[in-house]
Amino acid sequence: MQEIRYFDSAATTIMSRTALDVYQHVASTYIGNPSSLHAEGIKAKEKLDQAREDLCALLSVPKETITFTGGASEANAIVFNSLVWRLQKPHVIISNIEHSSITEYVRLMKQLGWKVTTINAPGGFIKREDLRKALTKQTRLVSLMLVNNVVGTIQDIQALVEEVRTYEKEQGGRKIHFHTDATQALGKIPFSLESLGVDSAAFSAHKFHGPKGVGFLYNIDPAIESLSRGGGQENGLRPGTENLPGIVSMVEAAKEAVGKIAEHEKQVKQINTLLRQRLSFLQTISPIESCSPYILNIATKNLPSEVFTRMLYDKGFCVSSGSACSNNAKQKGEGVLASMQVPPSLAKSSIRISFSADTTTEEAEALAEAITTLIQEHA
Ligand code: PMP
Repeated sequence: MQEIRYFDSAATTIMSRTALDVYQHVASTYIGNPSSLHAEGIKAKEKLDQAREDLCALLSVPKETITFTGGASEANAIVFNSLVWRLQKPHVIISNIEHSSITEYVRLMKQLGWKVTTINAPGGFIKREDLRKALTKQTRLVSLMLVNNVVGTIQDIQALVEEVRTYEKEQGGRKIHFHTDATQALGKIPFSLESLGVDSAAFSAHKFHGPKGVGFLYNIDPAIESLSRGGGQENGLRPGTENLPGIVSMVEAAKEAVGKIAEHEKQVKQINTLLRQRLSFLQTISPIESCSPYILNIATKNLPSEVFTRMLYDKGFCVSSGSACSNNAKQKGEGVLASMQVPPSLAKSSIRISFSADTTTEEAEALAEAITTLIQEHA
């Protein structure tokens, strides 16, 4: 059987040994529903509370700010959905490099009569002055991502929040909800939610070696309401029986990733630099400055992304031709790259290589060689 070399960690990471062991242990030991009042229910509830406490300690945020969800798409949806129905056709600002779980909501908002401003992100960066220009008296929601999932650019969210807060003060303290999709950031780049100053943020366990289908929402805005209806779990913000093994396993994965953030970043930077050097004859789309070392987007120019990635799959390499969250064309990276003002010739041939701390130098060398050979063969 062909050896698989995995370079698609921005799409999903492989669960860590610890996260897997914890998942299995919790699933087999904590059999009760955390809402049940018998001994097994109480045991499960205590485990859930402990997981929330641990996560809050890790992120230095109060307990009531965390809602466990089914992933980042759902965390984003809770914020958007809540405001879509509550407010009377106001104004929302997003960037045009947001994930589809945001852009699709904004499409719905437009249909419902919201005014939408989509800010450009030339080269992958949102400019403070562009946000300033977009703010209006009707603006109620600003949503700008922390780390982009296609090229890895990191936004200065703190400065962007400051811009919004300054505007609010000038307007007499009107409240604008600032949301950030921080899915590609946790355990990869250091940040503090409190310092960012956002009202809410979305996270997903499977991006930091936790299980799939579990994530969380950080939220300090009391106006945010639940997406669905049911029992009062998660303070009513996310009804439904909690995914206890997933949640506890996610928190362990988060502790591991955040605890080793500097060590892992150093390793990944070496791999990233190695590939940039070996592939220096190609156009690199991911910038060096203010960019996550976990994502490297390059353009081959020779062949369309889909063709090139398939050739790499045939050689056992898993990379991505777009954002790879789905096969849906709308979610592919090409649209995001176009909005970053990457020329179409480059965007069409772009491939996203993404790493984890498990990526080895040997794997990176093998990928560089495979790409070089394919380019020579199809020159
Ligand atoms: N936002 C970003 C930036 C992402 O990269 C992803 C995952 N591709 C999501 C949201 C959606 O996360 P989930 O798979 O947990 O719904």
